[in-house]
Amino acid sequence: MDTESATRTERAVRAFQEIAHASATSLDLQSLLESIVDQAIAVIQAEVSILRLLDRAGEHLELQVARGVPEEIVRQIRFRPGEGLAGRLLLDGEPLRGLNLQQDPRATQRDLARRGRWRAFVAVPLQMHQQPIGVWFMIRRERKPFSDQDLSLLSSFADSASTAVERNALLYAVVREKHESETVIQASAHGILVVDGRGWVVNMNPALERLTGWTLREARGQPCCDIVGCQFGHDRHDAADASICPLHAEQYGDDRAFLEYQLTTREGQRIPVETSYGLIRDDDGELTRIVMVFRDISHQRELNRMRAELIANVSHELRTPLSLIKGYATTLLSPDVTLDEAETRRFLNNVSVAADHLGRMIDDLLCASRIETQQLGLQLQYFDLGAIVEKTLQWFRPHAGECELAADLPTQPLQVYADPDRVEQVLVNLLSNAVKYSPGGGRVTVQVRQVGDPPFAAIHVVDEGQGIAQEHLPQIFDRYYLTEDSQQGIGLGLYICQGLVEAMGGQIWVASELGKGSIFSFSLPTGKVAS
Ligand code: ADP
Repeated sequence: MDTESATRTERAVRAFQEIAHASATSLDLQSLLESIVDQAIAVIQAEVSILRLLDRAGEHLELQVARGVPEEIVRQIRFRPGEGLAGRLLLDGEPLRGLNLQQDPRATQRDLARRGRWRAFVAVPLQMHQQPIGVWFMIRRERKPFSDQDLSLLSSFADSASTAVERNALLYAVVREKHESETVIQASAHGILVVDGRGWVVNMNPALERLTGWTLREARGQPCCDIVGCQFGHDRHDAADASICPLHAEQYGDDRAFLEYQLTTREGQRIPVETSYGLIRDDDGELTRIVMVFRDISHQRELNRMRAELIANVSHELRTPLSLIKGYATTLLSPDVTLDEAETRRFLNNVSVAADHLGRMIDDLLCASRIETQQLGLQLQYFDLGAIVEKTLQWFRPHAGECELAADLPTQPLQVYADPDRVEQVLVNLLSNAVKYSPGGGRVTVQVRQVGDPPFAAIHVVDEGQGIAQEHLPQIFDRYYLTEDSQQGIGLGLYICQGLVEAMGGQIWVASELGKGSIFSFSLPTGKVAS
């Protein structure tokens, strides 16, 4: 080996050592590629160097590093795969060498080569998993050709550059994946808790912070059972509990399990939750993380409770008119009882009223189920709201008992776009309640107004009855909700009103004061609502 070649080898070894050091300490791809290019220029000795990488879409070779040529000029030139020398090199994957770039017929940028006085060149592809990712050109302004050694050195530098790109891509993928999982965890409506192999809290999401009342900052490093208030963690469990604690699941060989328990919050409140967990182990099978998911099932439990209560209520409510019907029928059929015609008619009338009552309850149950399944089959059309209110009041008057019914309507017809039968149904429901909960009688007024911009119709049913205590107001439209003052009902009337009004594009609300009366209001669109 002559001295020149020995110094060159030494320089090359130093260059690769420096590249290795830079790769280990820097995560910045651009500066890493620039330093690889600079090292290569110094070792191989060239005046110009251009390194291009394929863009994300794989459509163009974009400039990444340029030396010895104004960057803004080469940046404007982009090659598609297969286009020009660079594009061919990318597809063929075979290194190129030549003596005069200005005259190479395969080059598309011969003008640029002429202006830059580019002559000898060597070019190698950059590859990742045998797939092309870029090209690298070294150019001299003199005719001194690039040797085989130059080519092999450049190939080694290109391998370092490809490794840097690959590492960056991996890093990018890991960061993106981490970001994605972080977002999923943060946005999850369910509480998520991550603990280490000993059960100390490592991470928790905002949903679990809300559920437990603990913040992540307070919980970090605490035993998980203190945070998610269970009784079977750490040393508090007995043999039966141990089988359901994820910390002990290991010895039972169960890596994934479901269980339900009452979580105790920071404030001591007990909340039923359903939880599942997954165990994460390292390569030696050692437990490193437990990921637990908590779902608040109090709403579901409450629904189940209400359902059970509804069945009891409905059975009771259905039984009352049924017993009446049975009672009157038995009397009418009894051979020992003789009734005059007027009394017989009164009995039959009572049977008919009880049957109507039964029918209404069954209709309500059916209507509520149609609201839930969104199968109301509304017949939406334009009609005059005032006319429907008048008609309903006229029909309802015989059922108003002690109450005096009044209408307060706009002087002009007020067109709404809704289902007239369903509007009537809502009005009858609200009027029945107004009368039912005005034991001492009083005035019940239906007020109709056009308000808002864009305009809508507002209907208020105002009574002077017993009113509703403030604490009931937020739930008054809930399914099966009844106050302690409820009279004969299953708590579906207002729920149905709300379901019908909302299905027609309106809203329903209430204002009430105990002992003074209530105003139940709803709105209806005056034109078609864009869906
Ligand atoms: P139901 O169909 O059983 O009558 P609703 O849903 O219509 O049930 O009513 C729910 C509760 O709202 C009733 O228990 C009653 O206490 C209260 N309520 C409804 N309307 C009025 C009113 N106008 N005045 C006072 N209380 C009312």
